[in-house]
Amino acid sequence: MRTLYADIIVDISHEKLDKTFQYRIPERLRDRLEPGACVMIPFGNGNRLIKGYVVSIGDQCQFDPEKIKEIAGLPEKETGVEDKMIALAAWIRRNYGCTMIQALKTVLPAKQTVKKLEHRQLVRLMSREEIVSLLGECERKKQVAKARLLKTLSEQESIPYEWVTGKLGVSAATVNSIVKVGAAKLVSSESYRNPVKVQAGETTYNTLSEEQQYIITEVLADFDAGKQQTYLIHGITGSGKTEVYMQLIGEMIKKGRQAIVLIPEIALTYQTLLRFYQRFGDRVSVMNSTLSPGEKYDQCERAKAGEIDVIIGPRSALFTPFPNLGLIVMDEEQENSYKSESTPKYHARETAMEVAKLYGASVVLGSATPSLEAYYRAGKGEYRLFHLTKRLTGGELPTVHTVDLRQELQEGNRSIFSRKLQELMTDRLSKGQQTILFLNRRGYAGFVSCRACGEVMKCPHCDVSLSEHKGGRLICHYCGYMQPMPKLCPKCGSKYILGFKAGTQQIEDKLKELYPGVRTLRMDADTTRTKDSYEKILSAFANGEADVLIGTQMIVKGHDFPKVTLVGILAADLSLNASDYRAGERTFQLLTQAVGRAGRGALPGEAVIQTYQPDHYAITCAAAQDYKSFYEEEILYRELSGYPPAAHMLAVQIYGKEEENVKQLAQRLADVVKSNMDFLQILGPTPANISKINDIYRYVFYAKHAEYDTLVAVKDCVEETLRQWQPRQLSIQFDFDPVNV
Ligand code: ADP
Ligand code: ZN
Ligand code: ZN
Repeated sequence: MRTLYADIIVDISHEKLDKTFQYRIPERLRDRLEPGACVMIPFGNGNRLIKGYVVSIGDQCQFDPEKIKEIAGLPEKETGVEDKMIALAAWIRRNYGCTMIQALKTVLPAKQTVKKLEHRQLVRLMSREEIVSLLGECERKKQVAKARLLKTLSEQESIPYEWVTGKLGVSAATVNSIVKVGAAKLVSSESYRNPVKVQAGETTYNTLSEEQQYIITEVLADFDAGKQQTYLIHGITGSGKTEVYMQLIGEMIKKGRQAIVLIPEIALTYQTLLRFYQRFGDRVSVMNSTLSPGEKYDQCERAKAGEIDVIIGPRSALFTPFPNLGLIVMDEEQENSYKSESTPKYHARETAMEVAKLYGASVVLGSATPSLEAYYRAGKGEYRLFHLTKRLTGGELPTVHTVDLRQELQEGNRSIFSRKLQELMTDRLSKGQQTILFLNRRGYAGFVSCRACGEVMKCPHCDVSLSEHKGGRLICHYCGYMQPMPKLCPKCGSKYILGFKAGTQQIEDKLKELYPGVRTLRMDADTTRTKDSYEKILSAFANGEADVLIGTQMIVKGHDFPKVTLVGILAADLSLNASDYRAGERTFQLLTQAVGRAGRGALPGEAVIQTYQPDHYAITCAAAQDYKSFYEEEILYRELSGYPPAAHMLAVQIYGKEEENVKQLAQRLADVVKSNMDFLQILGPTPANISKINDIYRYVFYAKHAEYDTLVAVKDCVEETLRQWQPRQLSIQFDFDPVNV
């Protein structure tokens, strides 16, 4: 029999131990070890026994077979990470580029750093009579606190510990003294915390529409036939997607399977959660970024223990360790937040499909404006496409007016609000109806520039525009650098240095000038910094506490506002002119969602899109709420220029403190890749879009190819080259099919 060797990770919590160690597998463990197993190994010079995780098993020995150490055995208490999670980590490592440690950290719940909430009880052990006689003794000795405790114990069999030390005012030492004499004992019962406190209420089952029923029947039929696959539901908001998800989840629970529901963090509203809680009660739980590490850990423990069947959360909820997962739902699959921004830069859509494969689960994607990726894959038959075409709650699609801002200026209107928008706002205010004003930008004002020479004020560390804030301060939103607003242009000395007045605060001020007494609410990164503030603003607006809600892209999701009959998009171009290939797609999505916010209730809605490019297809298609036409134009552009999803693209990002070193390494790496794979298209290297953050220089080059696996080979080539070169003080990141650069 061949000897087998295991590659072992020693500690998943220390970045420094970011490598595997090879050990021989002893005969007796041969059949008991697989990737993910937890083992005890002799380590270091002293051969101290420590715990390790098997990452892979093979028959190639990398060292002198005589000298290699042997695995000592299994730990007494089995704590091995699940095979599936290790397998998933390996897949993430291969497909997105990172170390095994980083991949493991991504898929495993953070170790619990806080203590579980403990509910300790002081439980009586002696009979009442015995306690009463002890009590008499204490009273004689004038031991007041002890007497108080014993009196209570004589009246009730158990007392919560917090109550003893709190209300009763008895010290821990005193409690110990009665425990010592055997009068009572402390019993602890651990309890998991559920972060959302909602009671299961009415369960309402709607009679499904034909379109809804068809999807459910088909998905379940595939599932029962063992043909689990990925589905894409294209349906406008209000067409019943969530109802379909919930019905499918209900069916999965009946089969003894569990479900993960991914929702973009920003859409994880109380309203959404409430619907799931009302349907599934205590069997559902939520995972989001406001939970403490301890709470997140608890959710994972509850999932493992079978206490819950459904978890709702953003991207990371995908890694909830359910024993028998049956379904992954990904609502609003087009959202950029599904792509991780730190290494490993995985995309939840593809990763969900991999998770589903490991469990034999189905994946259901839903969107009103599907990503180009998903629609493209559906077109190629990789996903099954379903349509939900009708709004179930009634309500007409809004009438859309597109206003050419160039013309407004020519005809003498210098206001942020076009004449059409003003006319409609005046009308809504007089009728007591609500308006939403949408601006795709954060902060008090935009960038500051010199009207004489064009110089833009930038952060000296980050190469991004500074933003003007109240009190005449200029702030960098990346590193926090702050400087006063200059009185004269630092380049030409002109005094015509001005803010580009287009922040939400600015709009609120202008609105109040135009309509004195108007009640406004503002929602942007500044007003939603604290926990719950997002929800508070939304419910205040829903309760009619303001006439106008002004906000950034945050307001286009979540809550329904039945009294909103007007949506104004102040500058559609802001996102259209971003310098990346997804600008058109992002603009179409934002505009479609924003327009769709008007007229959700009984009253019909209108929307005004203000723009400098009224003929751009992203704008005309959004105005017409026509996804298909947009898709056809946009995919043509992607195909012609070889951008995802028509091809694949890998960004190799090189970071470091010395610009010259960064630049050189980027060039040398790009050259190596080119010489190894001369058929590839390589762009760059160039300074990254934001070429410097916190004094770290960033260079990037891109590789493009039709096959994803070719780009994986590029990544492997870069990693191998770096292993040989060992460059100092430089780091590399990979970003496959980037969404934000
Ligand atoms: P989406 O997720 O596509 O926005 P929802 O599932 O939230 O759509 O449905 C929109 C509204 O229609 C909800 O208020 C929901 O309760 C209701 N609804 C969903 N399905 C039905 C149905 N079959 N019959 C009647 N109302 C429905
Ligand atoms: Zn100037
Ligand atoms: Zn900065």
